[in-house]
Amino acid sequence: MRTTRNPSRESVQRVHSGLSVHRQRRWGLGIRRARAAVAAAVLVAMTLLGTALAPAGASTGSAGGGGGGFRPGAPGVGDAYFPNYGNGGYDVRHYLLKVAYDPPTDRLTGVATISATATQNLSRFNLDFVGLTVRSIKVNGRAASWSRTAHELMVTPRHGLPKGHRFTTVVRYDGVPITQQLVLGPGFTIEAGFIHPDDGAIVAGQPEVAASWFPVNDHPIDKASYTFVVTAPAGLQVVANGRLLGRTRHGAKRTWVWNAPEPMASYLATVNIGQFDTHRYRTHDGLWMYDALDPDLFDEAVGPVDPASPTFGGIARDSFARQGEILDFLEQRFSRYPFSTGGGIVDDYDNLQFALETQTRPIYSKYFFTTPANGDSVVVHELAHQWFGDSVALAEWKHIWLNEGFAQYAEWLWSEEEGLGTAQEQFDALYNGIPADDPFWQVVIGDPGPELLFDNAVYFRGAMAVHALRLEVGGRDFFRILHAWTTRRASGNGTIPQFIRLAERVSGEQLDDLFQAWLFTGSKPALETAAAARVSASPPAPSMELMRR
Ligand SMILES: [Zn+2]
Repeated sequence: MRTTRNPSRESVQRVHSGLSVHRQRRWGLGIRRARAAVAAAVLVAMTLLGTALAPAGASTGSAGGGGGGFRPGAPGVGDAYFPNYGNGGYDVRHYLLKVAYDPPTDRLTGVATISATATQNLSRFNLDFVGLTVRSIKVNGRAASWSRTAHELMVTPRHGLPKGHRFTTVVRYDGVPITQQLVLGPGFTIEAGFIHPDDGAIVAGQPEVAASWFPVNDHPIDKASYTFVVTAPAGLQVVANGRLLGRTRHGAKRTWVWNAPEPMASYLATVNIGQFDTHRYRTHDGLWMYDALDPDLFDEAVGPVDPASPTFGGIARDSFARQGEILDFLEQRFSRYPFSTGGGIVDDYDNLQFALETQTRPIYSKYFFTTPANGDSVVVHELAHQWFGDSVALAEWKHIWLNEGFAQYAEWLWSEEEGLGTAQEQFDALYNGIPADDPFWQVVIGDPGPELLFDNAVYFRGAMAVHALRLEVGGRDFFRILHAWTTRRASGNGTIPQFIRLAERVSGEQLDDLFQAWLFTGSKPALETAAAARVSASPPAPSMELMRR
């Protein structure tokens, strides 16, 4: 496990403490810069502190019923870092998750209805499911048998499922969902996954969280739409992805229905239960927004000893108020916002120490909202992920640069826009400030390995790699590449080789050497003076499509 004290992080902090003092104040670097985190068999993500990662657990089972060319689906999708994440043999179209949650006991009772299509003749198939107790499983309305390992739920339907046929699996289950405990240093442990604050629940984690609260094909390669039907005590709010369709009260409880119709990777699915001030509105562009802020945040000063200090809630509210403006900014650099809803969630929970790009509605640690600049910047990061990570999701976890490099670079673009330092200045500070023998340069960010998935280098060298591309191809082609990537692969998945091919096609340049140096070499890239001379903070050249907007 790597900790927040790893050398590369310190290098980054050192450099940035010179560069952007205005952002630091109290938590500044600790939180905003440390963007890291990680995960173990399950989770974490996001933006804040962290690291480490233990490979996922084991599993599989053996042969099942069938015959006649029917065989079991694979226990994983073949991800090099997490071999048992996801499963083979079928493709999920929709999850209908009916869950009831009782905060005093932390118990969750669920009925998951999973609509899928067989992609082979299946005698048996796996779901990923960790912890909770399975009560019954039906496939196409008929009782199915099952067995389990720590991570895999192996379902044997009464009849084989022919390739190309749709089938519906209904799993009834209950129990107390596990919370991931990530040790980031002595006395410093953070939580991720299904988190249990006293008054509710927070669901946020990466690379794996979903399996801890519903049976799932838990890999970004199998996106699906979701409907959440969540029952909680009537005094609490429930906030999930997508759009609130309605809520009904029955006695002491209330049931909320949220619908997320756009394809979503499973780790981006979230349900949050608690006390929230909710704000429902449209941006000037007409985008349907739903923000949720814990009211306690408005009583909690950022600087505890100064009564005049602003509150976490006040700063978060102000940053959220800029979401429409930030989305405009990102649309001009990338492409049209890929989803039909937006918003954000901040709970008052001390041990939530990261932010995650949960689709359409990111979740933020309150600790990002210590200054307006910090707050705005993390919102830029998570909203940038709506394109890079959510709409265009990873095909495999080793392509994490496609998520974090670009989300980090979006912060640099925003910093430039706000007059807080140009992308070139950020690049130069890191390049000039971190010596060649620093471990920062040893991380192969195009394939960092599961333990360094969320290392600082993935973020900061990642953003430097993006900037190096911009210097190489020029601003106009650079923004054309971002536009093409985010439109052609919208709602799908991508790999780094696919990105490189697209960049070469759009720019007409051979970029092998550039990407080899910046993504696939564990040493400090040399700067070509010619490229360096071309450096300019040129504004994006709007594409034809963007000009029409
Ligand atoms: Zn990120």
